[in-house]
Amino acid sequence: MHKVTLILGDGTGPELCEVVKKVIAATGVPIEWEEVEAGVDALEKYGSPLPDGVLESCRRNHVALKGPITTPIGTGFRSVNVALRKELDLFACVRPCRSYAGVKSRYQNIDLVLVRENTEDLYAGVEFDANTPEARQIIGMSGGKIYPDAAISIKPISRTASLRILKYAFDYAVAHKRKKVTAVSKANIMKFTDGLFFKVGQEVAEDYAGRVEYEERLVDNMCMQLVQKPELYDVLALPNLYGDILSDLCAGLIGGLGIAPGANMGDRDAVFEAVHGSAPKYKGLNKVNPTAMLLSAKLMLDHLKETDAAGRLERAVADVVREGKQVTYDLGGTAGTREMGDAIIAKLQTSPLTSMHGR
Ligand code: NAD
Repeated sequence: MHKVTLILGDGTGPELCEVVKKVIAATGVPIEWEEVEAGVDALEKYGSPLPDGVLESCRRNHVALKGPITTPIGTGFRSVNVALRKELDLFACVRPCRSYAGVKSRYQNIDLVLVRENTEDLYAGVEFDANTPEARQIIGMSGGKIYPDAAISIKPISRTASLRILKYAFDYAVAHKRKKVTAVSKANIMKFTDGLFFKVGQEVAEDYAGRVEYEERLVDNMCMQLVQKPELYDVLALPNLYGDILSDLCAGLIGGLGIAPGANMGDRDAVFEAVHGSAPKYKGLNKVNPTAMLLSAKLMLDHLKETDAAGRLERAVADVVREGKQVTYDLGGTAGTREMGDAIIAKLQTSPLTSMHGR
């Protein structure tokens, strides 16, 4: 029996988690879920968007599946998602982007993996509002490069964090029989921060020479290349902000957020979650696509070494998506979240014990 923390999230999170629990039960993998609440609903109920019990549960069980959580813009609480990643030191965000037949997209045969640094960069939360003494002090140090009324966000890129994310990307490439790691940054402009990221990339690459290729791309060029010739790329390693932006670009390549899964990995703990957010306008409407959450659960089953069940789950999802009969609105169907989940369960109950990919 695996014990797993289930963070219900808010917006459409709880209804997605309900479906995921039912589908995982149908795989036959014995999981005892420890359900915890976080986000807007938890703030109303417990006075905190991230009650203490959530982190304790994640630390106790080491594996969590998480529904999306709203981050109000401008005001309110800081991102619970960022806090979870920082508190649990989930330094690597892994986002496989793979085409599935039946999903309308301008592209076919996409098979990319994005590895995003999760703990520093502009997400470190070191910000100074305009006209504060701290902002004025930094403006004073800038030698006239910053307007006097600027608000300031600090972008730290460390050797420590760069080293472990780039090593993670190379290790991932080896473990998943991938050929190439492309490091992405903007080192021509940010010579110290992004320059350090590339420098560390070159050092790490030496240890994997002959096993995994290494190359570098500037982030603006990378965006164009991904849109024009995505087949040239394999594993992408990125600092936090570029990783966040390119995750959505890559989700767009495979047909949208509804099918893009993710994993936040640390040395001790792992939290699995979809790339998409809480889609609050659809809350309670039984409307959104459960695929991204289910494929995140598939990554979780792989992590739990339930490889066979993970393969069957992916195949069942892929079959339902390909047939296109019981799919949600974003895939051109009229099924609700639960009905699509039920169709996947029906496939699982009849599927053979083989997975989809031989990699
Ligand atoms: P979003 O991903 O929630 O939704 C954007 C749009 O994408 C939706 O309006 C919907 O049309 C579509 N969409 C998203 N998920 C879908 C699904 N499963 N099926 C079908 N369509 C889907 O992005 P947003 O509106 O920018 O963010 C809403 C909130 O979620 C914000 O507060 C944001 O900060 C938060 N967010 C959380 C996470 C997370 O929990 N990891 C990730 C991204 C955004």
